[in-house]
Amino acid sequence: MEQVDPPSSVGAHEVLVRPFWCGICGTDLHEYAAGPIVTPQHPHPLNGSVIPQILGHEFSAEVVEIGAEVSSLRVGDRVTAMPLLFDNDCYYCRRGLNHLCVQMACIGLSYAWGGLAELALVPEDVLTVLPDSVSDLQGALVEPAAVAAYGVDTGHVKPGDTVLITGAGPIGALAALYASSLGAQVFVSEVNPNRQRLVRSFGVAEVLDPTEIDVAAFLKDLHGGIGVDAAIECSGNERALQTALASVRSAGRVVQTGLHTKPAAIDPMVLSEHDITLAGTWCYPVTDFPRIVNLIAAGRYPAEKVVSAQIPIEDIVTQGFDSLLDPAGAQTKVLVNARG
Ligand SMILES: [Zn+2]
Repeated sequence: MEQVDPPSSVGAHEVLVRPFWCGICGTDLHEYAAGPIVTPQHPHPLNGSVIPQILGHEFSAEVVEIGAEVSSLRVGDRVTAMPLLFDNDCYYCRRGLNHLCVQMACIGLSYAWGGLAELALVPEDVLTVLPDSVSDLQGALVEPAAVAAYGVDTGHVKPGDTVLITGAGPIGALAALYASSLGAQVFVSEVNPNRQRLVRSFGVAEVLDPTEIDVAAFLKDLHGGIGVDAAIECSGNERALQTALASVRSAGRVVQTGLHTKPAAIDPMVLSEHDITLAGTWCYPVTDFPRIVNLIAAGRYPAEKVVSAQIPIEDIVTQGFDSLLDPAGAQTKVLVNARG
């Protein structure tokens, strides 16, 4: 932890915010343990940002000052930040696929400010106001909740569908809550007993232990030999991807939402023989935050259930990063109170 100078001035279209809560993401862990990886060692082409970088891209905050041209927000508003920054000019941005911008940057990874600080200066248009029915804590979970929702949506999950989610880290656990909110019957495959327990406590999914049963065989038996309609792979594990492909029915969909750090072997003949679609997802559509906030506000998507610890920022190294990096650790999602 270091002391930095506060922002000296607020630009016309900028907003100064004071973060309430900020989540620690797997990306942050990789930067801490093995970085710099995505944090820029050379000036970022979009905004010139360069390390050292204030981390934190999953946060809620209070507006403390607005720029001269800002009209959509007022001082005192409670907000959540959609952290992706894009050029609005490339092939993808011109087609509305801003999350795939060729010059993508991200608040808290490749930007002058981040959510793991007492203050952050952000562009006006990344902020969504939180209604009273969404807590400060829930506001910090909109970002990972959007990642999970995009994975499930890409699986074309409908009410009454059966869905397998492999991996119950924060994204897999959120995917289980979201798929359930859509009216799907949800199964979660997870090896870690702490994470199994957390997902079981949601009461929305049947938890399967792949070290004890053959998950694909179990799901096929359950559905007359057919299999599930969709599988969302959230672990980044080769065997989990193989299980997902073996568990879906013909013409089913497998979505790769978790990040793999090395190549995985699959049998592409299974895709052909069974007309299976294997899709990938990256982040989320940048316009999705108001919809996710509405779902949380309605009580349909209780994202706060994935939080396993709430800590003051003073304890972020030991109770945050080190605790999450411990392979035997009990944490799923750690939220940091940026106000100490
Ligand atoms: Zn672009």
